[in-house]
Amino acid sequence: MIPAAFDYQKPKTVDEAIAALSGSNSKILAGGHSLLPAMKLRLSQPSKLVDINGISALKGIKEEDGEIVIGAASTHADIAGDRIIKSKLAFFSEGALLIGDVQVRNHGTIGGSLAHADPASDWPALVLAADGAIEVQGKNGKRRIKATDFFTGLFSTALQENEIIIAVRVPVPPEGTKATYQKLSHPASRFAIVGCAVVRFADGKTNIAFTGVADHAFRASNTETAVSGKAINEDVIATATNTAVQGVIFLSDHHASAEYRKHLTKVYLKKALQVIT
Ligand SMILES: Cc1cc2nc3c(=O)[nH]c(=O)nc-3n(C[C@H](O)[C@H](O)[C@H](O)COP(=O)(O)OP(=O)(O)OC[C@H]3O[C@@H](n4cnc5c(N)ncnc54)[C@H](O)[C@@H]3O)c2cc1C
Repeated sequence: MIPAAFDYQKPKTVDEAIAALSGSNSKILAGGHSLLPAMKLRLSQPSKLVDINGISALKGIKEEDGEIVIGAASTHADIAGDRIIKSKLAFFSEGALLIGDVQVRNHGTIGGSLAHADPASDWPALVLAADGAIEVQGKNGKRRIKATDFFTGLFSTALQENEIIIAVRVPVPPEGTKATYQKLSHPASRFAIVGCAVVRFADGKTNIAFTGVADHAFRASNTETAVSGKAINEDVIATATNTAVQGVIFLSDHHASAEYRKHLTKVYLKKALQVIT
């Protein structure tokens, strides 16, 4: 449980962090709640850690040009307690409070969670359902990646080598939007066995995203079509839950079998649809 030796740098700006990352087997250190356990098990052996906790530009939450901008180094607790989030994106606050325990919420960051892309983590489903985008910066400058293009597989993302997530950008939901996040938590870690985020806009357009179900979080586009623009009643819920499990390769592990996850996918989608009705 002792990690291999590594160098450590704590830059003050994103540019310094990008320079510190280049040309070596370096890794960004944010909350350390996924990276440090992996290093202790020697599953990850970076030669250098670039600690981003001293970069003030990566912290804070603001509203800008019709978007809510969440600094990548914002902790789950920062987001849960933020005034803008509570008033305009309340389901992010509710989702953040379902993550881990107090210690995890005080250290783990949204950027670290998205970059790590654990198939059972909560932020991917929330950001996907909210039509969010991930803003990243690397040696070639900044770019935005739609959440729908970001998660590419098990612990895999569209991040290129040495790119840093600098912020998460979410359109301010229009008046009349309803949203919820429903999950079955693992009883010890509280990671999602299955999590379902639903955002329904006033015109009936409905976004649905799952985590914990497959090797990465995803938007359930066929299910969205089955629900969007329709009054949510028992028939629509039945069609939606049946559609949601079609074509999915369900995860199976010692926490839950594929068959159980399939069942939970239906149950948690139904719960979410009932909450926003
Ligand atoms: C006991 C326990 C319970 C947990 N329960 C839950 C839960 O219920 N739900 C849940 O969703 N999560 C849970 N987590 C995960 C936790 O919430 C963290 O979000 C997660 O560990 C990653 O965030 P971090 O800031 O700790 O990242 P780190 O561990 O510091 O980094 C993780 C990875 O992301 C990279 N990285 C970090 N920041 C950036 C960035 N800005 N740009 C690019 N790459 C970056 C790192 O290099 C590393 O590869 C749990 C963790 C623990 C230890």
